Parts: sequence; structure tokens; C-alpha cells
Amino acid sequence: MPATKTIIEQLESKRVEAAKATKELYNEAIKFYFELLQGHQSLLELSTKKLLTELERLTVETLANPQPAFALPWNLPAMFRRAAINSAIGQARSFHSNLERWHKKKDKAQLRKKKFNERPPQPPKEFHQNPVYYQGMYRIVNEKEVYLKLYTGQAWIWVKYRMSGRSFPQSWEQASPKLVVKGKKLFLHICFEKKIKVAPIKQQVSKDTSNELVICSVDLNINNNLAVCRILKADGTVLASRFIGGGKASSGRRKRALGRVAKKRRKTGNLRPYEQDNKKLWEYINNLDKYEAHRVSRRIVEFAFEYRARIIVFEHLGNFKPQKGKYSRRGNEKRSYWLRGKIYHFTQYKAYELGILTSRVSPKNTSRLCAYCQKVVARHNRNQKPKEYRPGAPMFTCPNGHRGNADLNASNNIGLRLFARFNKQVSLKKPILKKVGVSLLYNAEGQDKRDGQVAPPELAVVHYENNVVALTGQGLPFSSTPAHLKNFS
Ligand SMILES: [Zn+2]
Repeated sequence: MPATKTIIEQLESKRVEAAKATKELYNEAIKFYFELLQGHQSLLELSTKKLLTELERLTVETLANPQPAFALPWNLPAMFRRAAINSAIGQARSFHSNLERWHKKKDKAQLRKKKFNERPPQPPKEFHQNPVYYQGMYRIVNEKEVYLKLYTGQAWIWVKYRMSGRSFPQSWEQASPKLVVKGKKLFLHICFEKKIKVAPIKQQVSKDTSNELVICSVDLNINNNLAVCRILKADGTVLASRFIGGGKASSGRRKRALGRVAKKRRKTGNLRPYEQDNKKLWEYINNLDKYEAHRVSRRIVEFAFEYRARIIVFEHLGNFKPQKGKYSRRGNEKRSYWLRGKIYHFTQYKAYELGILTSRVSPKNTSRLCAYCQKVVARHNRNQKPKEYRPGAPMFTCPNGHRGNADLNASNNIGLRLFARFNKQVSLKKPILKKVGVSLLYNAEGQDKRDGQVAPPELAVVHYENNVVALTGQGLPFSSTPAHLKNFS
């Protein structure tokens, strides 16, 4: 699968009606082909390429094919038609896999004699796709100028648009752009692709017999440390740790904005469903989260790249269970959970561009077990006796005396799980990591080797509020973001 990148260019607001008509026609064509596929579902068994040919044979009149079975009611440019057909195929496939999933669920429920009230998915009646421009329908002259073929309602015309001149990414291949119509505004989404050659995770981990594979494990939180990362090897060697903070600040900003939303709502009374209120405020809140997700994901990828990590591993994110409290508090917590999902997805695509894969492991007990011996830990505040498990407390202590930062422990567990899944030499039940792990705990957490006393992690871990950084690996020098990554986005 290639990595993809999109540059969004706002075009001048001219010939907007034609752009709208083009979009309408495009969706009419999608509808036509979608319904044809609905009526002839066996066609979906063909490969997409063969299906495209077959659909053209069934619908397009040519000299060799004078009477197609289901003649297309419009005379469309071939490449416009093909884009619509491919979109219809995609829609049909996705609808049918949803339907299949529903049938499976229903059968399962019936087998277990359980009630099943879920309604089956309905095929879309209308389509609202943005036209994809295939070769021949557009011409990008340079970074400042593009020609698009548009339908006026009567005829096809070429329209020239200016672009901002943003430079296109080097060494990426340009793919089909998309025309996006939003009210009176026109945008061209120009896509770029890059082929990435990278072995699947399973192969990378299982073939790592000499412990050379380096991975970066990440524990995502909703407290101040949004991401706690570790660079690990299969034998338990911890090469580096990094705290990506700033959670408190962004959560505070968001909570204040949500408070303003609540206040305004009280003034205006309740809303009808789907009615959008406080548009500006919501936009602000959404942008805040997006910015944070980009900032944190970029840091994670930079950190992984810096240490030549080949895989970044997270835990699966659980569902959000709302707590009681004020609107702004509940809403804020919910959004903090969502933010983790965004960070994961942004990391995934940013990492992939660099040939780094992402994976997720089971979240079960990643914080409750000691990464060095897999015993159940106590979680507690600093200067507090380790008695019980207090969710969210910063420290952990296990019955074997391993101690340290609770988030780093979770991050360790997440990384080890990935190794344990595919590497036969790593087992979580018989932690071979123990020997290595304990001594490494010294280095990683700043333990004093001479007397074996555990020093609190803050001695070794340097926090730079907002933009990282804690680094206490085995004699690795502190390194700031490398120059070649400074402009990385
Ligand atoms: Zn332990």
C-alpha cells in the first residue's frame, strides 16, 4: 500500500455552478452504476479491473457494442465515467460487506437464542461524492495553474484556475485529484503517493533472532503526559524514554471552551437534534484537538525515527465510560479519549511515510502488571506507601520491588506484548526479560547501581513541559530533534 499525502488548494470562486453540475452528474452516474450492481450482485465477485470492463460493456454504446443491455442515459467523457464506476464499485463493496457483517451477527444471535433488534444496513439512496479527476479530465500546468473539465449542464468545457503555488512534495507521485465543492467555495485536493517497501510486522518481529529490531512503544494518556514512549528491543533493552506532555494545558483550554458552550446553551435553551450551535466555539475546540494530535503524533514519529525504530506499538483504545459531573467536565473527558484515537491515526500515517509500521496490542492490564516480572503492582503517589492500585497515580511498585513511573511501565508492557506475540523467545509468562530488565531499570529510571536503592524517576527523567523530553537511555546522549526532521510534518 502506498503512503498518501494531500495538498488542498482553494480555487477561485468562478464557474461554481458548472462545478456543482459536474458533481451532480458524477453522483447520478454513481447512482446508476450502484443500482445496476444491486440488481446483479454476482458481478461483485469479479476483480475491480474486470468489473469495470464488464460494466462498460453493459452500459456503453460503441461501434463494436451497438446495443448495450443497460445503456447509460448520458454521454460522459470516458475518464469521468470510469471514475464514477470505480466509486460505485467501492460503494457497492462496502455496502455488501456491511450487510454481510449484519447477517453474521444475526445468525450468531439466533444460534445463541438471543434477541436481535439491530436493523439491517440500507443501501444509500443518494450519493454525495466529490468528483475524482482521472487523467484527461484535468491538466496541472504547474504549481500555480490547473485546467479542469467541467459540465455546464449542456456541454463540457475547460476552465483554468489559479493555485497558490504551494510546492508539491518531492519524490512523491501525483495521483488523481478531487474537486471539492463547499457552498460557493471550490477546492482541489491533489493527492500524492509514495510506494513504501516494508516487511509485515509479524515477519519483522518473528525473524528478529539476534535482537536487532528496535521498536517504539507508546502509552497514550489523558493526563498531562499525553504520550509516554519507550524505545525497546526484544531482549528487554530499553534504549530511551520520552514523555510528551502538554496535556494539562490543552485540556484546560478545551474545558474552558466547553464551559462557554454550556453557558451559551443555558441562555438559548435546548436545541433540536442535529442543530449546530456555537459554530465558532466548536470550530475552535476541534482545531485545538487537531493541533494537539498533530503535535503529539509528530513527536512520537520523530522519536521513533531518531532511534531507527521500525514499528510503533500502541494498545487498543477502550470505549469511553463517562463519569458524572458538569457538562464541561464530561465533555472534556470524552474529547480527551477521542484525542487518543486521533493521535493514533495521525501517528500511523506519518510513520508510514517513513516506512515505520504501527500496531496495537491488547490493553488488558498493561498498567496493572509489572513489566519486569508480570506481578500485579500497586499504584501510588510519590512518598506514599504502595498499598493499593490507585488509577492515575504516578508511581508503581511490584511485590518483587520493581518500582518506577507507572506510565513507563505500561509503555514497557505494550512493547513486550508485541514481541511476545510474534517472537518465540519472548514469553510474558516466563519473563526472560527479568534479568536484563532489572538491571536496565537502573539505567532507565535512574536507579543508583551501588546500593540498589530505587531513586524516584524524576531524578533521571527530564521533563520539558509542552514539547517533550525525557531521555535517560544507556549512555545515549541527549539529542534534540535532528535538523532533517525539523520541517517534518
Ligand atoms: Zn516486578
